[in-house]
Amino acid sequence: MKLRSTPQLSLPIEFDDERTAEPSATASLSHQTITSANFSIDRILAELNDAQREAVQHPAGPLAIIAGAGTGKTRVITYRIAYLIAAKLAKPKEILALTFTDKAAAEMEERVDVLVPYSYTDMTISTFHSFGDKLVREFAVDLGLDPDFKLMRQAEQALFLREHLFKLPLKHYRPLSNPTKFLEDLLRHFSRAKDEDISPADYVTFAENNLAATLQQTGDSVIILQAEKQLELARCYAAYQKLSIESSVTDFGDQIALAIRLLRESPDVRRRLQERYRYVLVDEFQDTNYAQFQLVKELAAGQRNLTVVADDDQSIYKFRGAAISNILNFNDTYRGAKYVVLNKNYRSTQAILDASYKLIRHNDPDRLEIKQQIDKKLIGRAPGGKAVEHLHFDTLSAEAETVAAMIAQKAAGADFKYGDFCVLVRSNNAADPYLRALAEKKIPYRFSGNRGLYQREEIRLLRAFLKTVADSRDSQSLYHLALSEIYRMPMQDLQLALGVHDRTHRPLLGIFRKPNEFEWSASLSAEGRVTMAKIVSDHDKYLEKSRQLPAYALLYHFLKDTGYLSRLAAGESAESDYKLRNLAKFFNTVQNYANFTSSGDAAFFAQHLDLMRDFGDDPGLADADLDEDAVQVLTIHKAKGLEFPVVFMVGLVAKKFPTEARHSTIELPDALIKDKLPEGDFHLQEERRLFYVGMTRAQDELYLTSARDHGGAKARKVSLFVHEAVDHAHADEDYLKRSPLETLAHFDVTPEDFSPAEGDIPPEQMLTLDAYKIDDYLTCPLKYKYARILRVPLEVHHTIIYGKAIHEAIREYNQRKLQNRPVSAEDLLRVFKANWRSEGFISREHEDQRFAYGQEVLKKFFAQQEAGDAIPKYVEEPFKFRLGNNQIAGRWDRVDEPAAGEVYLIDYKSSDVNDPEKARVQTVSSRQMRIYALAYEARFSRPITGWRLHFLDTGLIGESSFKERLLEKTKEDILKAAAGIRRRDYTPDPGPTKCKYCAYQDICPVAEG
Ligand code: SF4
Repeated sequence: MKLRSTPQLSLPIEFDDERTAEPSATASLSHQTITSANFSIDRILAELNDAQREAVQHPAGPLAIIAGAGTGKTRVITYRIAYLIAAKLAKPKEILALTFTDKAAAEMEERVDVLVPYSYTDMTISTFHSFGDKLVREFAVDLGLDPDFKLMRQAEQALFLREHLFKLPLKHYRPLSNPTKFLEDLLRHFSRAKDEDISPADYVTFAENNLAATLQQTGDSVIILQAEKQLELARCYAAYQKLSIESSVTDFGDQIALAIRLLRESPDVRRRLQERYRYVLVDEFQDTNYAQFQLVKELAAGQRNLTVVADDDQSIYKFRGAAISNILNFNDTYRGAKYVVLNKNYRSTQAILDASYKLIRHNDPDRLEIKQQIDKKLIGRAPGGKAVEHLHFDTLSAEAETVAAMIAQKAAGADFKYGDFCVLVRSNNAADPYLRALAEKKIPYRFSGNRGLYQREEIRLLRAFLKTVADSRDSQSLYHLALSEIYRMPMQDLQLALGVHDRTHRPLLGIFRKPNEFEWSASLSAEGRVTMAKIVSDHDKYLEKSRQLPAYALLYHFLKDTGYLSRLAAGESAESDYKLRNLAKFFNTVQNYANFTSSGDAAFFAQHLDLMRDFGDDPGLADADLDEDAVQVLTIHKAKGLEFPVVFMVGLVAKKFPTEARHSTIELPDALIKDKLPEGDFHLQEERRLFYVGMTRAQDELYLTSARDHGGAKARKVSLFVHEAVDHAHADEDYLKRSPLETLAHFDVTPEDFSPAEGDIPPEQMLTLDAYKIDDYLTCPLKYKYARILRVPLEVHHTIIYGKAIHEAIREYNQRKLQNRPVSAEDLLRVFKANWRSEGFISREHEDQRFAYGQEVLKKFFAQQEAGDAIPKYVEEPFKFRLGNNQIAGRWDRVDEPAAGEVYLIDYKSSDVNDPEKARVQTVSSRQMRIYALAYEARFSRPITGWRLHFLDTGLIGESSFKERLLEKTKEDILKAAAGIRRRDYTPDPGPTKCKYCAYQDICPVAEG
């Protein structure tokens, strides 16, 4: 692996677009542990440039930080948080920082952790949706909701709506010939209404008045029909909301809509929340929708200490409801708000920035630069630099091959490695020719689009399996299954079978079942016959099992019994690892569906998978590991937040980029839309911003490529954006020619991904661990890899279901005690029941008995606790501490301080330990509790008195007193695990006892015992 010679760029990929700050600054703080003693304002400010410092030091009142690409946006927000604490303007718990993705929230939190001492960690850093969810759950009673409601993803929403379609007051939008025709449009419509902060009641009132007025004003049946349909939609929206609440489910839009309702309708809660969050900070503000801004405004209404960080030129989520007007009109909402502009870019050369700027100026005057009269022109990290190049080709395959050849040539030199390159595509579908060309040149690559999971071979075979179980006449799926990696039927035999199928019109399964009853045009091989018999016997076996097992359990058994999981687990290649990750992701999807449908059997589920795909539900592939030395092929939306030394933006032709505008089938009435759209061609502006985001990912070299022949009848024109960005763009007819033979490459198929190499996790990168990860690694590094890296799917085990339900009930008890709220045994039983799932039990009787036993355990626990008078000091309190450059995070179940100076950590176990000596030994040797003890000492600078484990099933309590030497040993354990994980050393460490209890025993190639 080659590394670049420029030291500050030796890390090829930054995980956030604003992560690249001054190299010296990044280095200085992240390598030192910040303690209360060395935590100071001067120290924080010393790390910043003038504009960043001005933003960070703003004392109070509304602040808009306009931060161009690569100018340190997230850096400023995290330093501002640190400054607010260091300057004592806010206590950590008074700070609320909001962003959009879990990944962005985690990165922000990680960076704050580096900046502030770990005793200052109780601030709220969250995504909008998690924060909304937290508020709604906390105040569910005030909203009249069941606190145990479930959250539906988009696909689950579709299932829910489909199941209840005939309960909704629909007529025009539920044609009986095709009742689900408008299902996706309806969901999108409801979601848009929530994004626009339109309540069901307001919508119905509007639509009723509109119909009444229409009837008065006109006799035109077309216009009247329009008004009737609008009312149908409004009533359907209201009915859907009512049904969701009755069924205790919510969707993503509800998390914000309900939080807003809470703040508007409960003055008491509103006041409490405004006092709780005195400083509100919003990252990526340009991506907020109208409703999210309303939520922020409600929260910040008291103190007006609102900081937003935004770049209007990078607003690319209109399709998800983002309202660019939020930032363009921020000053109208917050008169006199302070604006700070960050335009010192730490990422790209001036040549790249100038070309990007030239492009984005075509969005004038609908840009902040014009509206606010500010200068947003970015100053690059290096003057000049290589000019942005446009390459125009005869055919698409010539374009793709040249891109691959250029990458191969550059990577063969001393300056670049594969991980330095990125190929950016406008959409998932556009990636294929480039993937093919990279594969042909044996260049390792990783494709990470927003979709594509269902197209992966390992997932298609599961779909084919389910479909053959659901319908034994589905010969197409059986054909696919026979060819798959699992059965590998010889192609010649399969062709012969297809010939029989064509002649006789009998299902393939019937032919496989009784091959001797058919006439074959040639002899079947022995291997072919054996495979046919195996497929038939497997089919019959799983058909039988499908009567008792839900779809995901059936899939799991199939993968395990056929040895496919073990083969992948033993594969030891990045490709088999990647397949396992995709399988894990698919299993999560399958399990989520099961939560929201009344039937989880294979036939039903196979049908739903098709339905979901028809609705456009296709989850993204497992995230690529950006540490891999592989070319990243990404959609531009996926690339936001990343940077690469060399970027190829490909497929830049008219109608592909910019795409053509698509309008929703069901639009919201204009009168209800509050987001004020700019006046220009909004779609074109959004596409241009996307192009701008793509260009500004490049650090040193940027290539824009296009081809005139994409296989259609008409030649494609070079994208308008290329002409806008580059002075010497090639004209449509000025293309590089290739031989006719090369056109045959169009018909090649995409081979499987190549395996990129993985490097160590560098020492300067923070590694986040918890007690369970550490324990897994120290037990067996291969177990850690299966569980934490590959996330190999596991069958749901009844002990997990039981343990979770018990744990939730205990948490409820402790929380109420902490909050001094009344609690009864019935409350515990209610929570226990709400968290119970009928999965993994051996039989119905087993489940019934386990459930009854759990109820008894809780009653016993309640009586035992009520007999004493202990009140917890903390419940489910999160903690973090650092050891070297490793962060250890977790949660104490409960902390008690029974007398002055006495501190006990308490944890609950549902394992069946009925011998007091065993309970004592298990307690003393608990690595988890030792780590928790270290965490307490780190946070409060004093040791605990001891820890206790409550073995709930038997009521036994084990106790261990504090011993310094145990903690020293624990530190060594943590560092040992961290060092191994950083080296990515997953050498198995088998042993009869550990393998016996290892969940991966069935697939592990070296399991003992
Ligand atoms: S079965 Fe044994 S060797 Fe394999 S992962 Fe589990 S503990 Fe490690």
